[in-house]
Amino acid sequence: MPAEAAAALQDRALGAYLGLAIGDALGATVEFMTPREIAAHFAGQGGMHRHIVGGGWLKLPAGQVTDDTTMSLALGDALLRGHREGRPFDTRLIADAFAAWWRARPVDCGNTCRRGILRYLQHGSLQGEPNEGDAGNGALMRNLPVALATLGDDAGFERVSVAQARITHHHALSDAAVLGIGHLLRALLAGADAAAVAAASDALAERQPAFRFRPYRGRASAYVVDTVQTVLHHLNTHADFETALLATVNRGEDADTTGALVGMLAGARCGARALPRHWLRQLLPAVVQAVTRQADALLALAASRPSPPPPAPPPRPGTLPVPHACP
Ligand code: MG
Ligand code: MG
Repeated sequence: MPAEAAAALQDRALGAYLGLAIGDALGATVEFMTPREIAAHFAGQGGMHRHIVGGGWLKLPAGQVTDDTTMSLALGDALLRGHREGRPFDTRLIADAFAAWWRARPVDCGNTCRRGILRYLQHGSLQGEPNEGDAGNGALMRNLPVALATLGDDAGFERVSVAQARITHHHALSDAAVLGIGHLLRALLAGADAAAVAAASDALAERQPAFRFRPYRGRASAYVVDTVQTVLHHLNTHADFETALLATVNRGEDADTTGALVGMLAGARCGARALPRHWLRQLLPAVVQAVTRQADALLALAASRPSPPPPAPPPRPGTLPVPHACP
């Protein structure tokens, strides 16, 4: 890859990961609030929540992130470890990393994630049975490292994404969201413009009609359908990172996760150098360092892998070997 293109990719990848952390930290303050409650609470600043100040139901320190970012980091660490130890994309290493993350008492852990991790610890199984209760957004929120580590290998991206997702979430809508939003992220990392993003968003909603987001219904809960609609609506409505993220988190409900996902996609679109400085300064330095190190390491992992062979073209009529006639 030419040096200029590699630098642009590195800027977009770091923009995505820092954007995820910014959206998580910003949204956590208003998680589970309604838009009306947010407007009343922040009446003194124009009725909008605007700054990374911590607090919220988790009583976070300012600049701290939640499970959206820390589970992503745990997943990314497992991918890097697998690469180092000759066990590339080993799902068991990912499950072990989630278990270690949970044992370290994270600030929060969704019910479905907890149930899946406990199942793994008790039975060693890497996925449970399909479950109607697994249509939350917990597998979607943490998939960024897979998108980076498998750049250039779409089949590998899909295989590893579904494997990591089903450790805790086994539901067709979760799978569709993980793959659909992941492919959108990969398009943005490759430099997709607004028209291409709109076309890809509409194609995703066409493939899975539950994700239709025009007109936007306005729900932003942890149900993966609400999450995907909220993310696609705000990404396509606002070209600017800050405007998109403020509009997203001020919808409340699962604001840290919708914020993390819009931050990830809008951050890939604008690149790290264009992220708002005041929000980067408000993040904890340890978070910025961990995310920066991992983004670079995952890109290096992707670059070190041999390219997968291109898919074989379908046979054309007339090119098949003609059977010999018997003498
Ligand atoms: Mg969270
Ligand atoms: Mg959340």
